[in-house]
Amino acid sequence: MKSRNIAIMVFCLFAGTALLVTIYTRSKLAGQALESEWKSTIEDLCDNSTSAHIQSLRYTSYATQAAREDDTLNEQLFRALAYSELIHEQMCAKAAELFGGEYTSPHSEADISTTTEENLKRSISSARTRHNLTQGEAASRAIESGNRYVARILIWIDGSNRRHIELLERADNAGSKPGKDAGYLVCPKCGNIYHTASYDIYCPFCQTHYSDFKRF
Ligand SMILES: [Zn+2]
Repeated sequence: MKSRNIAIMVFCLFAGTALLVTIYTRSKLAGQALESEWKSTIEDLCDNSTSAHIQSLRYTSYATQAAREDDTLNEQLFRALAYSELIHEQMCAKAAELFGGEYTSPHSEADISTTTEENLKRSISSARTRHNLTQGEAASRAIESGNRYVARILIWIDGSNRRHIELLERADNAGSKPGKDAGYLVCPKCGNIYHTASYDIYCPFCQTHYSDFKRF
């Protein structure tokens, strides 16, 4: 009787282990299949995340420089832009993981000592280059592959990046004179950015209410 119980226990142990191995192998294969199905989409998302990460660090460094110059308006702008880029990085990283990819933020540092005037011009040139290079191509690829979820995210980012250029150009033209309605708002869901003088009640991209926007 005793030996029969032991045999049953050993059988259950083997059966349980075999079941766990099967489940693990299947889920791993499913993950690999998902990753290979969306390979180019994941690459586009990770490229976007990396680029947003680097740009966010640069903007933070530019904000520190503006603070050194007591240029509050441009410090606010650079902090808002850094936050917007951070949201873009997180959105793309989350989407990449959802489709079986893995994003690791790059080891990058930005310690810039050029003046705010130069940093504004440098930011405009870099934002224009990034925009001209991509021209919404990643979003088009996502649409072609039938991935509407990712396409929507990339379209939001493209629209938000265009807004970055507008606000940087406006700040560059205004010089460093702080305005009466100084300050910026950033949508915490999609990174869309506004000057406080004109903003939507609901973010046109993700429908977040303005009361949830982060103020800088
Ligand atoms: Zn939004």
